[in-house]
Amino acid sequence: MKTKHKLPTHCPSCINKLHVTQLACESCETTVGGQFNLPLLSQLTQEEQDFVLQFFLYSGSLKQMAQQMNISYPTVRNKLDDMIEHIKKLQNL
Ligand SMILES: [Zn+2]
Repeated sequence: MKTKHKLPTHCPSCINKLHVTQLACESCETTVGGQFNLPLLSQLTQEEQDFVLQFFLYSGSLKQMAQQMNISYPTVRNKLDDMIEHIKKLQNL
């Protein structure tokens, strides 16, 4: 298998959302084509995805996350609220 790169989610040219048009089997290299949406979590920005991962690893404790990230609790709380809004928007698309 060739080097894997980070999955781009937005067009570097016009910034619009990207979708998947081809998938390949790692074993036999069969490819399937079509129009597939990226999973919801993959549509988040890299920063948001990192936040979700940390949130999960800290068992959802914003207090612990704030301590670890060296930022205030209200800042973490605001980041989470922004993300909730972003996710709701993505769900309605
Ligand atoms: Zn295969």
